[in-house]
Amino acid sequence: MQFSQVVAQEEIKEYFIHSDKQNRMPHAMLFLGATGYGTLAMANALAQYILCDHKTETDSCGQCNQCRKVDRFIHPDVHYTFPTIGSKMTSGDFLPQWRKFVSHGLYQDVQDWYRCLDGENKQGNITKDECDRILKVLSLKSYEGSHKIMIIWMAEFLGDQGNRLLKILEEPPENTVFILLAESQEAILNTILSRCQIIPFKPIEYPVLQEYLQDHAKLDKDSAMQMAFLARGNVQTALSLAQQNNDKVAGLWLDWLRLAYKGYGLEINPWVDQFAKLNRESQKAFMYYGLHFLREMLLFHLNPGHDIHLLEKEKLAMSKMSSLLTHQSIEGMILLIEENIFHIERNINSKILLLDSSIRMHYLLHNQEASLKALLSTS
Ligand SMILES: [Zn+2]
Repeated sequence: MQFSQVVAQEEIKEYFIHSDKQNRMPHAMLFLGATGYGTLAMANALAQYILCDHKTETDSCGQCNQCRKVDRFIHPDVHYTFPTIGSKMTSGDFLPQWRKFVSHGLYQDVQDWYRCLDGENKQGNITKDECDRILKVLSLKSYEGSHKIMIIWMAEFLGDQGNRLLKILEEPPENTVFILLAESQEAILNTILSRCQIIPFKPIEYPVLQEYLQDHAKLDKDSAMQMAFLARGNVQTALSLAQQNNDKVAGLWLDWLRLAYKGYGLEINPWVDQFAKLNRESQKAFMYYGLHFLREMLLFHLNPGHDIHLLEKEKLAMSKMSSLLTHQSIEGMILLIEENIFHIERNINSKILLLDSSIRMHYLLHNQEASLKALLSTS
């Protein structure tokens, strides 16, 4: 991948180009941010740029032998480490699956990777054996490139095994570049953090994401705008949302609010059954839509002059609801939906989740946080 194919993050690209020209490329870096902001895409583009035989002023050439191999994830001097399933496994055991996974896009997250491994309910790991493999691979001479590049995706999965890499991070073999990628800094050992140049990735700006969706998902301008708002800077979320039918999602959301408000179990049950039949991406799209709706409602609540990013029909429903609700109730609903997204990503039973959420939503819609708290403390 070339820098030009990485969505946005222009400052980071400029930093690499400048560092390369000055001959001061850091030998150990930590790209910090969601995969959906482009950390893996940038790592691949940087590896290609470092190894390219004919780089231009601002990018790799994209044509030479080195570029083509990095782009296809088969360059013998670009090594990938990623979470695997099984205590004795190494990334080397999963290369065919990894190449298949990345061929579907470099903005996917670790849950997408587990799905690709048919291990959705399992917890991945970067094992002791994998750390040994890293040390071994880097002790060998490079095959054909000017550098050896080690990309560790989801470095938070290293855990304490990261201690095994401290020495090599401190004093890597000549012409070796470490690129660690992580979504959360807290899970990385301080001893590793202190040895890496930390490069934070920001969410993709909303107009850039809108344009990206128009080009790549062939959405019209209005739909692309709405999806870009919902995706909050994450390319993968935006692409998943674009695959859903937004009107359908909005209708389902308003139905749920109406049923939860009434609180009749007999009516909620068939709705929950219908929801449970949706695939996980659709369930997530529903929750993201709900989150967007509620955030817009909170802003409207605070300032009725706020420019609302909802379609006309939804805007009307939102303003009616807003007048009945307290600020605290709306915030409670936002928390509830955020929790639901967390659980759906971890494959919880969606029927149980939505039945429970419907009850909690019922109390919130009636501004009865106190009853809700009592309910929660006894459950
Ligand atoms: Zn090239």
